[in-house]
Amino acid sequence: MNELKWFFPSTEKDCIKMLDEGYRPHGGGTYLIKTSLKIKGLFSLPDDGVFKTCTDDSENIIIGSAVTYADAANYLSELRPDNLLSKALSNAASTPLRNRITLGGSIAAAPKWSDITGPLTACGAKLRLSGDKNIIDYTDYASNRKIGKRPLISSIIIPKNSVKGGYFRCTLTSFDYPVFSISLSAASKNLRCAVTGTSSGIICLGGGPSEIIDAYNNTISFSSERCFSGEYLKERGLTELQRLINGVSYE
Ligand SMILES: Cc1cc2nc3c(=O)[nH]c(=O)nc-3n(C[C@H](O)[C@H](O)[C@H](O)COP(=O)(O)OP(=O)(O)OC[C@H]3O[C@@H](n4cnc5c(N)ncnc54)[C@H](O)[C@@H]3O)c2cc1C
Repeated sequence: MNELKWFFPSTEKDCIKMLDEGYRPHGGGTYLIKTSLKIKGLFSLPDDGVFKTCTDDSENIIIGSAVTYADAANYLSELRPDNLLSKALSNAASTPLRNRITLGGSIAAAPKWSDITGPLTACGAKLRLSGDKNIIDYTDYASNRKIGKRPLISSIIIPKNSVKGGYFRCTLTSFDYPVFSISLSAASKNLRCAVTGTSSGIICLGGGPSEIIDAYNNTISFSSERCFSGEYLKERGLTELQRLINGVSYE
């Protein structure tokens, strides 16, 4: 067994140095616990500064990558109760897990059941990467996991007007990984919808209510999974999508 080293850097600069030296960031550790840990070592993200801070300005909400699902959900629901991100994060996993799982670890690990991938896609979120301070579209990061060499995500930037909307996660019991999820961002009558768990992975649909429904019918398919048939999942998704569309008011 290799000797795993742990570090607790106190600045972003030190974190970048650790990353350059081949160490990996530790978020909530809920994914890392399942891995072989054949790595040089791990470092925690500092408590002070950008990684654990939630802020907002007139245009964006900025959430540090080491903020937990629970803290992000609280912050977001206080900002705007009808927002799809807090609905998604506050129903993921269980209370103890939500107190551990971080946004950055979830974005980097991106398991197919993740409750963060759909909302970030629907909202048109961006990521600030540490080091060169590049800001990139979340969808570019998600579709090209080889961007640079596994960059350190420092924060997530979400356009304020995009978070209004709804979220549905299809599970058999409330504490279950979602088989699929639907995120609906209703910033205007031009809706954006992200469906995860389809046969083709995550699919993004845009347009007015009837265009979204037509696009769902024409493009989405599901494979049978666990106890669910593909046909059931498609019908269930259509019903929940209609409910989400009917549930939002348009500004
Ligand atoms: C029983 C169980 C049920 C779960 N149910 C759900 C669920 O319903 N919905 C859901 O969304 N999630 C769920 N999860 C969580 C999900 O499966 C992942 O474990 C989680 O998203 C990983 O986040 P983390 O902060 O724990 O990451 P970690 O395990 O700490 O790290 C994961 C990876 O990300 C890297 N990393 C960490 N932080 C950063 C960063 N800032 N920048 C770049 N890379 C980074 C790490 O080096 C590692 O490679 C569940 C987990 C468990 C154990």
